[in-house]
Amino acid sequence: MQLKPNAKLELTKDEMRTYGYSVVDAIVEHFDTQDQKLPIAQASRAEMDHLFLEEAPEMPSDPQGVLHFVLKNVMAQSQIVSHPKSFSFVPGPSNYISAMADTLATGFNIFSGGWAASPAAAELEIVTVGWLLKIFGFPKKKGGGIFTSGGSMANLTAVATARRIKCGEDFSKAVIYLSDQAHSSNIKAIRVLGFKKEQIRIIPTDGEFKFAINKLKNAIAKDQLEGLQPFCLIATAGTTNTGTVDPLTELSKICKEENIWFHIDGAYGGAAILAKNGKDLLKGISKADSLTVDPHKWFFQPYEMGCLLVRNHKWLKSTFTEKPEYLRDIEGNESEINFYDHGIQLTRRFRALKFYMSIKTFGLKAFRKAITYNCELAEKTEKILRKSKQWEVVSPATLAIINFRYNPIGIQPSEKAIDALNQYISEKVVNSRKALLVTTVLNKQVVLRMCLINPRTTLEDVKETLALCEHFAEEKLAVL
Ligand SMILES: *Cc1c(COP(=O)(O)O)cnc(C)c1O
Repeated sequence: MQLKPNAKLELTKDEMRTYGYSVVDAIVEHFDTQDQKLPIAQASRAEMDHLFLEEAPEMPSDPQGVLHFVLKNVMAQSQIVSHPKSFSFVPGPSNYISAMADTLATGFNIFSGGWAASPAAAELEIVTVGWLLKIFGFPKKKGGGIFTSGGSMANLTAVATARRIKCGEDFSKAVIYLSDQAHSSNIKAIRVLGFKKEQIRIIPTDGEFKFAINKLKNAIAKDQLEGLQPFCLIATAGTTNTGTVDPLTELSKICKEENIWFHIDGAYGGAAILAKNGKDLLKGISKADSLTVDPHKWFFQPYEMGCLLVRNHKWLKSTFTEKPEYLRDIEGNESEINFYDHGIQLTRRFRALKFYMSIKTFGLKAFRKAITYNCELAEKTEKILRKSKQWEVVSPATLAIINFRYNPIGIQPSEKAIDALNQYISEKVVNSRKALLVTTVLNKQVVLRMCLINPRTTLEDVKETLALCEHFAEEKLAVL
């Protein structure tokens, strides 16, 4: 079928239906078969150019033809971040309800900026942010928050708010503190906001990758002596490297004493609050002035969805409200929030819908169980590694992340040789496309890192992957 020249960009009802069913069929097929596929896609720029590079076509094409081309060449050439053997970075184990909710939000093209345009969308954002405030022990009435595209934008929103509230207009003397394990998006946010290098203090971590309190105290004191203004501290609840949680309670005390804004980046680890012992794991998280969480990570939402929570919703409003004349007719009453006044974006997609529908459908209990399962799976993996003569645990299972390396007893190779061996293992595993397992560097050692936040990953998946690693390691050692 060929579309007719079509200046309204329309399809007939039957064409839309046929097309839509094809899309749903493809998504369902993907959900049903993704676990059996290979998680890794590898292609060079030249190969991709060969497939896709063309001038924008003037003439129409058959819709099903375009769709099939895309399914075959685009969807099949992307990493499957929801694959049970996708262990690296932070996997994205999405869920079908949320995928469909996103489809609905896009299908109806709901403008989620202001109350007047879509009261129900604003209400659902208020309600679901309220759920998160309660989950994290933030003040329910006074607290507030906003959904963002991801953790990076949530951190940017946080630092902008912190600066506005603590420094007002003049931030020339402001200093911000974060640890060497803080996520790179924080430094990006600080740079975007126009801080100079001299205004950033990167504090080393201790042997367990936690914020070194003594060094932090020294830095703050020295800055005060210099007449500078310590205004914000960024702690991490679940570092991306090791899942480590900074000493949040201690840090919150320091911030309180020194009148410093306490931001916690919980983009990776925040969701662990729903695990069986989550409240202990994340002790002190409720003390933050602002908290980043990232529903498109461990709350199992599809991209893009991040969230910033704040203790006082007025902070967001006083940071981000601008009143251009063309928006003057749509000021509602105070309780009817215009989210464009609480963050950076004016036009916003309806992110709350997927969070709302997936939690309504599965129940929070399912999320609690999934997250608890993930933490326990990492602990079981640690036990297996500890009992093996080949493996050494470098950073123990923490919030479903574990770091380890191949270092067989009895051989005693040099540090450099162990690094090379583990790098080799990772490369071979990735090239096999059977599992996504890459390295990171901890204490100058090259280590393998598993992030086990997929509730469909089994202990068998982990064992198979370790066996694959051992196979490649033995192969390498045999030729040495
Ligand atoms: C992933 C991550 C971020 C960035 O979040 P995006 O959603 O990728 O923008 C920030 N902080 C931490 C700790 C993270 O793990």
